[in-house]
Amino acid sequence: MGKEGIKIIKLDVNELIKTLNKAFADEWLAYYQYWLGAQVAKGPMKEAVIAELTQHAADELRHAQMLSARIIQLGGTPLLSPKDWYTNTNCGYSAPENPLVKKLLEQNIEGERCAIDVYQKLVDLTKDKDIITYNMASQILSDEVEHEDDLENLLEDINLI
Ligand code: FE
Ligand code: FE
Ligand code: MG
Repeated sequence: MGKEGIKIIKLDVNELIKTLNKAFADEWLAYYQYWLGAQVAKGPMKEAVIAELTQHAADELRHAQMLSARIIQLGGTPLLSPKDWYTNTNCGYSAPENPLVKKLLEQNIEGERCAIDVYQKLVDLTKDKDIITYNMASQILSDEVEHEDDLENLLEDINLI
């Protein structure tokens, strides 16, 4: 990365890259969980649930792209192998073993709550220390807050049937 671009960061850059790679692992697992959930979903309001899960999958993939771009810009390497996602993840992976929409929504809400915590911590870590990563983490945090809200609203509607 550019020397001045590195110099302005008031954090241990190697530690920051590790933290970003953990979030990168989370995003791939979240992407896959949403994508697969959208394929197998069954039950009431299935079409609305599939549309939301598919949209969120695209958002998580975009988050992975944002993180990898920043990792590379910082001179790091994004996790190169999917097996590394499991060993680096903060939020884990919940397989959609039960395809009922209610169960899928509950699993993904849990994932979003974890993601909100991860990005709030990244925002706190980078505030006044690394404005570029701070801005990226704030954007992703806004998306995760919206994701949790969307899923909770869908679950609420399904529970009213
Ligand atoms: Fe995400
Ligand atoms: Fe999300
Ligand atoms: Mg949404």
